[in-house]
Amino acid sequence: MTEPQGQRIAVLKERAAGETRVSATPETVKKLIALGAAVSVECRAGSNASISDEDYLAAGADVGPVEAVLSGAEIVFGVQGPDPALLGGTKPGAWVVATLDPFGQRARVDAYAAAGLEALAMEFMPRITRAQSMDVLSSQSNLAGYKAVIAAADTYGRAFPMMMTAAGTVSAAKCFVMGVGVAGLQAIATARRLGAQVSATDVRSATKEQILSLGAKPIFVENVAGIEGEGSGGYATEMSEEYQKAQAELVSSHIAKQDIVVTTALIPGRAAPRLITDAQIATMKPGSVIFDLAVAQGGNVEGSVADQVVERHGVKIMGFSNTPAHLPADASALYARNLFNFLSAFWDKEQGKPVLDEEIGDAVRLTQGGKVVNARLLG
Ligand code: NAD
Repeated sequence: MTEPQGQRIAVLKERAAGETRVSATPETVKKLIALGAAVSVECRAGSNASISDEDYLAAGADVGPVEAVLSGAEIVFGVQGPDPALLGGTKPGAWVVATLDPFGQRARVDAYAAAGLEALAMEFMPRITRAQSMDVLSSQSNLAGYKAVIAAADTYGRAFPMMMTAAGTVSAAKCFVMGVGVAGLQAIATARRLGAQVSATDVRSATKEQILSLGAKPIFVENVAGIEGEGSGGYATEMSEEYQKAQAELVSSHIAKQDIVVTTALIPGRAAPRLITDAQIATMKPGSVIFDLAVAQGGNVEGSVADQVVERHGVKIMGFSNTPAHLPADASALYARNLFNFLSAFWDKEQGKPVLDEEIGDAVRLTQGGKVVNARLLG
């Protein structure tokens, strides 16, 4: 390992089961070095994303075993949060830059604090214009929305587009997208490209225009008020009982006519809202497919099980525990650029290191000086 110069960034191989992504690519390694950092990559960190150790070396990184990579590092990059026990050799106060699942993995956050690390949760990036290029939730949700439709299409025993053949006509699939955030918008676009007839719903009224602009049909609760405009920070909150009842009735009448349903509804910091019950599934046509993108957050669909195709009433229900990991190369490329954009936006040339501002720093910082400091975790 060469003598570190400037800030040393360690790029770890992901250790979580099923995680195929990597937090830096040769492209971002080059750009980080151009900023003035030294980058050390753990052996085989990119192998699941089709990036070899030689590719990282050619980009200017050191490649080595985990202890060497972490030794003296000021910044540790991960896709998922690394085990705090692994990080002993880092510099005091080193940054951990990853998606840290702060609500789900609170004990790990506490351990980062106890170790004196500064943990920066990339999923807490504020939804503001200047942070868009750093927003890992958006980049990964976009790919997940695409993959959900592709996986559902693969499981569906019929075709998506209408086809007129000599042997007769194949009719177009009807696809319903529930939850029109970043993933839902990409799911609508993908299903349309494949030739399906697409409809979509959300609780935020601002999505109606977006659905129409993609050539899909909005299906909205009309008699009970939903969330006006974008909602707070673009996010939904839990809906009233009255709204939930009206939504259930609307969904029941619509869903029975659908071939493919993709659910993407999430509420930050809470379990995913239940959108489809077993009784509603029973009204669907046998052979229909439901893809539950929220399955890892508790599921939008009754009976969905992560990484399994469950059959109920002849309907196949599926969902992945980690959808972006099914597109490792693109998901890594976008995620790695998000991390690079984050560091480079705050790179202080004089100090030779990134210095965060209040708006973004306070939003993403979970721990500092031995304590948990994030308002969302304390409040
Ligand atoms: P999300 O993943 O939190 O939720 C997915 C969708 O589910 C949301 O549209 C939400 O309204 C919807 N939903 C929640 N409960 C529902 C229910 N009961 N029934 C139906 N739908 C329900 O959302 P997201 O993908 O993170 O995007 C949310 C918004 O933030 C979007 O408008 C997006 O354009 C915006 N955004 C802005 C920025 C930025 O400005 N930097 C970046 C990313 C996203």
